[in-house]
Amino acid sequence: EPRFDDLPDHTAELGNYRLGSGRWMKTELTYFMATFTNDLDVGTQRSIIAEAFAAWSAVIPLNFQEVSSASSADFVLGFGTGSHCELYSASGTQCNSDGAFDGPSGVLAHCYYPGIADPVGGDCHFDDAELFASGVGTSREVSLLSVAIHELGHGLGLDHSPEDRSAIMFPSYDPSNVKIQLGADDIA
Ligand code: ZN
Repeated sequence: EPRFDDLPDHTAELGNYRLGSGRWMKTELTYFMATFTNDLDVGTQRSIIAEAFAAWSAVIPLNFQEVSSASSADFVLGFGTGSHCELYSASGTQCNSDGAFDGPSGVLAHCYYPGIADPVGGDCHFDDAELFASGVGTSREVSLLSVAIHELGHGLGLDHSPEDRSAIMFPSYDPSNVKIQLGADDIA
């Protein structure tokens, strides 16, 4: 039975989150969707990505708006397979083998930490070898909303929360426990 004076301080209580690197030095941020998956219609993908951004903007003083070109976007988002060089070239940079996707399962997506001077800073790429679904999806599908909220966390500068399974920043995706909203640790 915890007593109030036994409670750990705020940092220790909610301290599973970890910072990655970088932060955005402005509050009005933009994103561009460079490519889409064939798994869902484009309108659905747009609304899922908007919902993922909204999950974060509800708890931090940042706003996100979709724009119509990569050159004016802080976050370039898209789907690709293998080396997915087209998504790197959308940001004016080159692909390399370190960033290549691995086919079905394994890595589902990746997102780069913020970087104003870094052409891929904030960019989130989704492995189109996965079968993406709206909502939580079935056990054979991957919830685009869940993965997008997680990846955007990286794009905002968060690392994983390896000790908190209820955090959306927990490092692995569990089809039997799909999270589509932020946990207390993510919000902290
Ligand atoms: Zn991650």
